[in-house]
Amino acid sequence: MKIHCFIEAHISEALPRARYALKALLMAYLPPKHIIFVSDRSRFRQLLVSGDYLCVYYGVNPELYYEENNCVFLDYSNEAEYFYQQSRKRGKEEISYINRLGKQVPVLFKEKNSATHKEAIGADLPASAFYFLSDWESCIATHNELDIHKRFDFRNSMQFTCGLHDSYLLNTYAAIIWEDITLVAKKAGFRHVPAQSRSFMGNSFAACITHDIDRVRKRYRGTIKRELFDIPVKNALNLTFSQRINRLSNSATDFAIPRDTYEYSIRKMLAFERDAGVKPTVLLKSIVEKHPNDAADYLSYPFVTELLAKVRQSEGEVGLHSSYNAGFDETLFMLELQKLNRLQRSKITAHRHHYLRENAIRLPSMLEKNEIKTDSTKAWANQAGSKTLFSFPYYLYDLHRNRETQVLEIPMFMMEVQLLVSMKMKPVAALELLKKQVDDVRDRGGVLCWNFHHHVYDNTEAEGADFLFEASLGYLQEQSPFFATMTQIYEYF
Ligand SMILES: [Zn+2]
Repeated sequence: MKIHCFIEAHISEALPRARYALKALLMAYLPPKHIIFVSDRSRFRQLLVSGDYLCVYYGVNPELYYEENNCVFLDYSNEAEYFYQQSRKRGKEEISYINRLGKQVPVLFKEKNSATHKEAIGADLPASAFYFLSDWESCIATHNELDIHKRFDFRNSMQFTCGLHDSYLLNTYAAIIWEDITLVAKKAGFRHVPAQSRSFMGNSFAACITHDIDRVRKRYRGTIKRELFDIPVKNALNLTFSQRINRLSNSATDFAIPRDTYEYSIRKMLAFERDAGVKPTVLLKSIVEKHPNDAADYLSYPFVTELLAKVRQSEGEVGLHSSYNAGFDETLFMLELQKLNRLQRSKITAHRHHYLRENAIRLPSMLEKNEIKTDSTKAWANQAGSKTLFSFPYYLYDLHRNRETQVLEIPMFMMEVQLLVSMKMKPVAALELLKKQVDDVRDRGGVLCWNFHHHVYDNTEAEGADFLFEASLGYLQEQSPFFATMTQIYEYF
């Protein structure tokens, strides 16, 4: 089934935003090629009058089209048009509620004039969604809203202050719009309206398991110094005395074993995933200029050749995990990518920033310019869950140039260090949270993207990390997702 959409705005700069957000929400139900945007009024009227097409009108002059019964009207907010022309956050007091799908649904832009047609939603849902899809707050953040790594802090976000972080709010918006579309389609006699959100190769959801490979050798002087001096003596991580003793004793035992623990953990993780049918996305560092928060360049280690072969055997993918400073230095980013391309002898198309450290406003255009197809940087550093409040991937929006890019964002829902270290969860409670993520995405459709770090798999840095990895993937496998790499998701989507 195809849908023809027409958008009208007061100011032309609002058109690309409106079109982008509407498309992103519809993509939970339809592939992009089935969502057609009509650019002029007379063409749209032709389509409407013929009665052969299901249409969506989203704009400022709905009354011109009311007589046709094959058209869905979406409320359009004049206020939102002007709001996105400025650089300001939406306050908690500016949130309103509509009653749909049997619940109170928070919206950012309520449409006051919506009484003009009877099936009105009463709010501008694409404009509300745009706030999260564009990562608006990260893009306009002021210096004092950033953490020490210059990342927009979860605690300053609307997701936190309005308690939305577990809400999958954009899925709800998409479902409301889809309910209206289904209703009109049925009345107008259209068939083949999908009742469910999009499936992935016949599976109700997809899973993208990724690994940021920060370091591959534990027996490295930086790590040894860190474990035997910085943490136990200088207390660099601000641990309690008993935590430090515990960690020191673990590390000392570990250094006494002949094999390298990190290499061993990588082998073990990949072997486990191969048995589980996971197609891993392994994101490698490609150091050109090392910052103290980057590990040493490891690409020339013989182990990396073995690692690449294992990824190939699992039908996985190698992507770039760009360095601490690469998000703020486009030349550095390009050099890191070129270096990894040479090693891999093919184009790298998947990416995530180290420390999730991005220049939010520049990220979309930087990735697009470097022919990255898919990114997974959008996540909170210290909090699990979908930052965008959406379980589906979406294209990144370049606010700087006011246009949609071709880079597909597959937001990361969890890394075990968030749960076990930042959120200080016990492994069993963390497993419950992950099972809930699996259930939520399975029931709503979309792509569940997780990130596991091999360097905590030996439990020295995060107690219970190996248990969490194996138990959560075990549960995920039982729910039969379509396992895919990031680029496979891009190609499928
Ligand atoms: Zn990293």
